[in-house]
Amino acid sequence: MGEMTRHSEVPGLPDEPGDVLREKCGVFGIFGHPDAAAITALGLHALQHRGQEAAGIVSFDGKRFHSERRLGLVGDTFSDRRVIDRLPGTSAVGHVRYSTTGETLLRNVQPLFAELDPFGFAIGHNGNLTNGLTLRRELVHDGAIMQSTTDTEVVLHLVARSHKPRFVDRFIDALRALEGAYSFVGLTNKKLVGARDPLGIRPLVLGMLDGCPILTSETCALDIIGAKYVRDIENGEVIIFDDKGAHSHKPFPPMPPRPCIFEYIYFARPDSIVGGRPVYQVRKTMGAQLAAESPAAADVIVPVPDSGVPAALGFSQASGIPFDLGIIRNHYVGRTFIEPTQQIRQLGVRLKHNANRAVVAGKRIVLVDDSIVRGTTSTKIVQMMRDAGAREVHFRIASPPITHPDYYGIDTPDKDKLLAATHSLDEMRQFIGADSLAFLSVDGIYKAMGYESRDPLRPQFTDHCFTGDYPTPLTDLTAARHTPRQLSLLAEAS
Ligand code: AMP
Repeated sequence: MGEMTRHSEVPGLPDEPGDVLREKCGVFGIFGHPDAAAITALGLHALQHRGQEAAGIVSFDGKRFHSERRLGLVGDTFSDRRVIDRLPGTSAVGHVRYSTTGETLLRNVQPLFAELDPFGFAIGHNGNLTNGLTLRRELVHDGAIMQSTTDTEVVLHLVARSHKPRFVDRFIDALRALEGAYSFVGLTNKKLVGARDPLGIRPLVLGMLDGCPILTSETCALDIIGAKYVRDIENGEVIIFDDKGAHSHKPFPPMPPRPCIFEYIYFARPDSIVGGRPVYQVRKTMGAQLAAESPAAADVIVPVPDSGVPAALGFSQASGIPFDLGIIRNHYVGRTFIEPTQQIRQLGVRLKHNANRAVVAGKRIVLVDDSIVRGTTSTKIVQMMRDAGAREVHFRIASPPITHPDYYGIDTPDKDKLLAATHSLDEMRQFIGADSLAFLSVDGIYKAMGYESRDPLRPQFTDHCFTGDYPTPLTDLTAARHTPRQLSLLAEAS
């Protein structure tokens, strides 16, 4: 954290910039099941890839809410039967969380819980609000006392301040104030609640187990418990489950969905079905499309594991060049992004991957990965392939160059740290040390998703990482109301 101050100079602004604007999470909720907490813990296991820094579950036993929130992996805490036993009740919501830099505070671990008038409310959030800081500032100015530095707490305050008699209307009042990306799962003493932002940027699906509804980020969390997938929650939909059944609300003007394309490229698990599309199949098609757009004369296609595997298979099948495992991954170290500093990240890459000399020595190889962010992974891996005797190394990336930062919960860094934002294609090739480098085109991504091309007037997906086309206002970044100190904290946070 260096010289960062612990005490914000500006009321309402969080004092740990690393904990601002950086939510990359998974959510799970179940209503009316005798094993609610244990099932939620299993669901969170399946969502571990969406957040590895902290996990939490809140349950309701008919009288009281119970909360267990810890730093670390799901299994570190929730494999322990004693912890599950402290979460009695037939309804529960859970959350896995991930943030990049700075210390993670226990008070930021979700689901957050508050005693409102007249009920308790627990909420978990996947996504990121683009006016979260602005709302926080207004609330704090108005006397709100914030316990955490997450956007999500703002939602609790907004629900608390609504004077509508029905819970759903209070929740909708809160949603109307929000900009950006959110998939929420919430729990009151009577209801399980879900909501997806008007564009449906982050995913949320409905499943059913033993007649009990489940809301969760990905279908892989349904598979792990043998639950049936029912449908995706629609963009702009608010859904409530209570003793009387399901109630769906559409409080926003209807608009075409724009789910985040990066879920398909990197973020979701390949065995999940997102928006009706199997992620694995989409990634293979992206690889095949890449082979058609940017072929390479080579002896072997080598995936960067695990993220590049489906695309590499697609590349291999489309090009007819054999697929082989030229890099072996150590599964017992976390994702490199977990490490806070560049130095440790670089070390992390070496911990994670090793060259399989038997496959690459003396060969012309095509390395396939899903994306380049800072260029750390690709640089290390090209060097590793050369050290292992590869004759030529051609890098193929199954997504377009990431030229713009994300503010919707995917957690790519600020512009100056994005390799493609600061380097031309040939400079990138030189930087990573490859003999050739090619990315999938933006239209190529849309082809892999089953479209002719990207519709420039009404893009079918949220794809700002590649196009700079942000589908919502970015109020926190642009608000003139921010002081220079706040803006510099925002910049540090990114
Ligand atoms: P970098 O080393 O910074 O270029 O990052 C690229 C690697 O990180 C690729 O292997 C990707 O699979 C992976 N990656 C891409 N986006 C993300 C993200 N948002 N969080 C964590 N890892 C990512």
